[in-house]
Amino acid sequence: MNGTRVLVLNSGSSSLKYQLLDMADGSRLASGLVERIGEGPVADHTAALSKVSEELAAQGLGLDSPELAAVGHRVVHGGTRFTEPTLITDEVVAEIEKLVPLAPLHNPANITGIKVARELRPDLPQVAVFDTAFHSTMPESAARYAIDTEVADAHGVRRYGFHGTSHAYVSRATAELLGKDLAEVNTIVLHLGNGASASAVRGGVCVDTSMGLTPLEGLVMGTRSGDLDPAVVFHLARVGGLSTDEIDALLNKRSGLIGLCGDNDMREITRRMDEGDEAARLAFEVYIHRLRKYIGAYTAVLGRVDAIAFTAGVGENAAHVREAALRDLSALGIVVDGERNAVRGGSARLISADDSRVAVAVVPTDEELEIANEAYALVNA
Ligand code: AMP
Repeated sequence: MNGTRVLVLNSGSSSLKYQLLDMADGSRLASGLVERIGEGPVADHTAALSKVSEELAAQGLGLDSPELAAVGHRVVHGGTRFTEPTLITDEVVAEIEKLVPLAPLHNPANITGIKVARELRPDLPQVAVFDTAFHSTMPESAARYAIDTEVADAHGVRRYGFHGTSHAYVSRATAELLGKDLAEVNTIVLHLGNGASASAVRGGVCVDTSMGLTPLEGLVMGTRSGDLDPAVVFHLARVGGLSTDEIDALLNKRSGLIGLCGDNDMREITRRMDEGDEAARLAFEVYIHRLRKYIGAYTAVLGRVDAIAFTAGVGENAAHVREAALRDLSALGIVVDGERNAVRGGSARLISADDSRVAVAVVPTDEELEIANEAYALVNA
């Protein structure tokens, strides 16, 4: 029998997050984060992984252990090429490299993580799990932008969606919470973290999601604008005199909540709102308005909604965001129970009223567990 442990690596440009899980019982054996790679004692990702390796060895969980069955890597962009977890080969690495223009901030770091892990344990199966994969089932009607098809296809311009690992995990966990078959449940998943996205999931299959070519589209986020008229970009270039890179930075790093009020953390915004701060109030209202628009849109996309699931930092913790997002929607069959919504807790739970036709749930996401599960299933297939 082979090992049952899976190391999950989430490699960013200057950080390396890891978790070691035992798939025999789903337990977490170790987890950690190496930050500021390239800035100090940790010179590069090779040094970062050595550090991870040392930290694990110190706990008797060394990477040379025969218990280790696979490494699962989070990869942000799989384009149209990767729609499933994929065993990593030289050819796969080359294909992920070809997708760098679609995710210039993320894929290079993911590739670096893959390369150093493969050098360290060349014998070990390594699996790439793509953030876009879960959304690859979107119909063309949802995935296409209404622009010239030839231009779009020449440049890979279409809607890919992100946070797919989380949407997959949460939609399945929601069906489990309801005690129903996944195939029977239509769910709107609201992943509200610093990045935020919504998805419409019909019987476990994604049919629409709010992020697009990049994670910039859709909901108002901590620092990203989400949806806007594309002409804003031309206007800022022609009239505002901003360069392409300046507009990119503006919309990705200085927009959303932080652009509207100077803070991107919902806790701080809430504190300021409670003190009567008008900018914080406006930021909150813009955020909620966008969220409600997507809930309405995905209700129409799905036709019948069985569940709405809130997840990630804001979705799991901010009861007032959930309350405001679903206030006065009894005409859509959505009624939140105030007391249930106010209860804090770390596990999946229902917050809808007994007479709510649509179940409303808080479902903590677990992207690492999902990546580990997918990697482990693949190497044991
Ligand atoms: P994530 O990207 O999922 O880690 O979510 C991070 C965000 O969750 C933070 O920027 C906060 O805005 C938000 N958050 C975390 N904890 C809370 C909380 N207790 N109440 C409100 N928002 C929270």
